[in-house]
Amino acid sequence: NQNTETRGFQAEVKQLLQLMIHSMYSNKEVFARELISNASDALDTLRFEGLKNDALFENDPELKIWIDYDKDARTVTIGDSGIGMTREQVIDRLGTIAKSGTRAFLDSLSGDEKKDAHLIGQFGVGFYSAFIVAEKVVVDTRHGGESIGVRWTSDGGGEYTLETIDKEKRGTEVTLHLREGEDEFLDDYRLRHLVRTYSDHIAFPIMMREQLSEEDEKEGKEAGWEQVNRGAPLWTQPKSEISAEDYAEFYKHACHDYEDPLTWTHNKVEGSQEYTNLLYIPKRAPYDLFDPNGKAHGVKLYVQRVFIMDDAEKLMPRYMRFVKGIIDSNDLPLNVSREILQSNQLLDKIRAGSVKKVLGLLESMAKDDEEPEKYQTFWNEFGQVLKEGIVEDHENQAKIAKLLRFKTTKDESADPGVSLDEYIARMAEGQDKIYYITADTLAEAKHSPHLEIFKKKDIEVLLLTDRVDEWVMAHMTEYEDKTFQSVAKGALDLGDAETEEEKAEQKKLEEESKDLVERVKKALGERVNEVRVTYRLTDSPACLVADEHGISAHLERILKEAGQ
Ligand code: ADP
Ligand code: MG
Repeated sequence: NQNTETRGFQAEVKQLLQLMIHSMYSNKEVFARELISNASDALDTLRFEGLKNDALFENDPELKIWIDYDKDARTVTIGDSGIGMTREQVIDRLGTIAKSGTRAFLDSLSGDEKKDAHLIGQFGVGFYSAFIVAEKVVVDTRHGGESIGVRWTSDGGGEYTLETIDKEKRGTEVTLHLREGEDEFLDDYRLRHLVRTYSDHIAFPIMMREQLSEEDEKEGKEAGWEQVNRGAPLWTQPKSEISAEDYAEFYKHACHDYEDPLTWTHNKVEGSQEYTNLLYIPKRAPYDLFDPNGKAHGVKLYVQRVFIMDDAEKLMPRYMRFVKGIIDSNDLPLNVSREILQSNQLLDKIRAGSVKKVLGLLESMAKDDEEPEKYQTFWNEFGQVLKEGIVEDHENQAKIAKLLRFKTTKDESADPGVSLDEYIARMAEGQDKIYYITADTLAEAKHSPHLEIFKKKDIEVLLLTDRVDEWVMAHMTEYEDKTFQSVAKGALDLGDAETEEEKAEQKKLEEESKDLVERVKKALGERVNEVRVTYRLTDSPACLVADEHGISAHLERILKEAGQ
């Protein structure tokens, strides 16, 4: 057959397949969730594309997923009447990994199976998870509106083959030839249970064959089909009917995580704007949280329950890129495009409302005294990202500032856990500023000579060591009427003499040091603005201080490294 060809997998796919088969084995059930989720995506795509091009439906509007098994052949098949794939699409999608950063991701794997399983889970296990339980996978598919179908076959080694086939109905059928020892999946009860556990809220019917009574079977009656899943999108149901398990399962399916979420918020907003949002915060940061090109699965946009697009960047500000979930609008037009979304007032309102909900969710988590570790988990994973909101979102700056957590000179715990409110509550008498120091590392911050006078005066100082801190502090000038003051900037008045006696002594010291100051000035020349006697040091002989309005030494270093 001249239409048969054998092709090699992209090197990354080969590597991922090997890792997955070994690391994911203890989670082998995920194949069901992944394949059903792909079927559901393909139905979503058909429904969406079909709005513009009715021919894709081929006069067969039925949108469904089905699962069947064959005990003799030892196969399980997952089929859908979705959009299907052309030959080019099959090559592109089932032979390569398009995701950006795949290489970096694979390089970050440690070889420790448990850890890697977490990472692979985050990356999205996807179609290739079929090979965890199957020794051979066959995909028959035909794109809506096309006349020719294609069959993709592979044993998960280095290659796959393609051949042209006739396929009557549009859509895709994935057949798994189970590995030795995986016969548990050739069982009606087991498969139904998987569907209910992982895919109950898929918005399309998932069909399985009826179980025949022994009598009917004897009579040779053919089993009909019946729907196994609940079949309504979770977010459309009343909160009172949704259990925590339901929320968690929906999250894992819709947001491609395989751990439970940390927390979520579900809201139906009515009035001039009608929309529903169901927003989750994961337990763990994705590996590409700080990759500028990284496209984490974020918030999906639906309009009247029809899936419109993934990861619409306008739905959430960048500093909330850790949020996952869905927003379903009743008012946006079904044919919205990314371009329309760029400047859409309806969407601006939806976004502002959703941001408020997320901030509210974080606030209540931060206040929750029964589970304080929950907010700490959030902060450790995503605090650096939330901080960006201080700069990006002026309107909510005060709320975000309340959510910040710091390491300080008076807090010995391993995690940054001091809030600005706590800091203010234990300010020294007469203290009117919030003091902070920025540095590359915690050790560097802690041992800075700038801190000596603060130790002596028993004043707490925030220790800032994240890359974004300089930038953030440049945009946050005050909190609750207290201004922020870098301990490395300007003429701190902390060393000021308190009594007449001290004053006289300081004056005398300054007189005596005149020669020394002149000599140091001469030696350093152009490199410094000024040399002066200080009382802020207790152990070190000298320190560098930045101009009050200039950039700090730390920022200067960062800029230099960046080649500025
Ligand atoms: P992801 O779903 O995260 O994109 P997958 O590995 O699960 O990654 O799938 C890869 C791609 O293969 C999908 O994006 C989709 O384009 C295509 N695909 C997989 N299964 C189907 C299917 N049942 N129908 C149509 N396309 C599919
Ligand atoms: Mg998928």
